[in-house]
Amino acid sequence: MEFLRPVTWAEALAVKAELPEAAPIQGGTDMMVELNFDVRRPVALLDLNRVAELGRWSAEEDGRLRVGAGVTYTRVIAELGEELPGLAQAARTVGSPQIRNRGTVGGNLGAASPAGDSHPPLLAADAVVEVESAARGVRMIPAAEFYLGVKRSALEADELIRAFWTRPADGPQYFSKVGVRNAMVIAVCSFAIALHPAERRVGTGIGSAAPTPRRALAAEEFLAAELDWEAVLDGDDLLDGDAAPGGEAALAPALLRRFGELAAQAASPIDDVRGTADYRRHAIGVMARRTLTWAWNDLRSGTPDRRAD
Ligand SMILES: Cc1cc2nc3c(=O)[nH]c(=O)nc-3n(C[C@H](O)[C@H](O)[C@H](O)COP(=O)(O)OP(=O)(O)OC[C@H]3O[C@@H](n4cnc5c(N)ncnc54)[C@H](O)[C@@H]3O)c2cc1C
Repeated sequence: MEFLRPVTWAEALAVKAELPEAAPIQGGTDMMVELNFDVRRPVALLDLNRVAELGRWSAEEDGRLRVGAGVTYTRVIAELGEELPGLAQAARTVGSPQIRNRGTVGGNLGAASPAGDSHPPLLAADAVVEVESAARGVRMIPAAEFYLGVKRSALEADELIRAFWTRPADGPQYFSKVGVRNAMVIAVCSFAIALHPAERRVGTGIGSAAPTPRRALAAEEFLAAELDWEAVLDGDDLLDGDAAPGGEAALAPALLRRFGELAAQAASPIDDVRGTADYRRHAIGVMARRTLTWAWNDLRSGTPDRRAD
């Protein structure tokens, strides 16, 4: 097996164009497992670790963040926890410190597993994946269009993932994951929510409960229309952080229940060794209600921040 080590992005694209069967490797936390268990035997490995720009992130002129495909989970937590709290929460649940030190969001996207933990928060935050080929240049693919099937993505054989783009959180974001234990575990299922109060909009992401990560669109629309945004955003007492749960803008039990139902209906899970389809559907509903409650209470009380103002 050849081991190819480009130093620049242009070189990496040229290699991928010439040898589309070459398998990219970043942290190797998925790839090495597949090699060790003989699940894959690519003709060549395309090591991206020398391409320095993949390990960088930046705030762009349009206000969005551009995060290189080689930025590790550890760095997402340490450097982007404030800007991308949903993704950072998901990153904290990935594997162990060793896996988080090597594993990257780019690699999670490359693997495109329905159970990948970065996908739900990327979906909820309307992230866009930047991919590129030597032949056709850059393509910007919304996360919602990136996942095509179980471990299948919109990435073409001659393309590489360069970065993902997303706005810094403009409201509360939460991620929740059910596993068979608390650490080093593949999600039985997961759920992410992002509230965008300034736009009166809601984003969601469901993980490990369908052939691909996916949004719960009907649940998002229902919530955007039903939440009492004005009460939360206009009340001076709320802006001062004095709101007490149970006040005017508290979530109605019927609203919470309906949101949970719609989120669960958006899933199409299977029975497997990690859990049954029924359990997954149930758990998605519970996590949807829970994450919404956390997010809404943050908004009502003005914590942890109020970027929408
Ligand atoms: C013990 C253990 C625990 C784990 N726990 C979790 C967990 O809790 N949650 C979770 O989501 N995952 C988990 N994983 C899986 C893995 O850590 C993640 O999927 C991680 O994000 C992979 O990133 P990486 O940089 O190591 O990818 P790599 O292994 O280097 O690559 C993964 C895939 O992406 C492709 N790829 C990499 N970079 C690019 C690129 N720039 N362009 C195109 N394709 C690319 C590779 O060809 C490969 O197919 C675990 C793995 C292990 C071994």
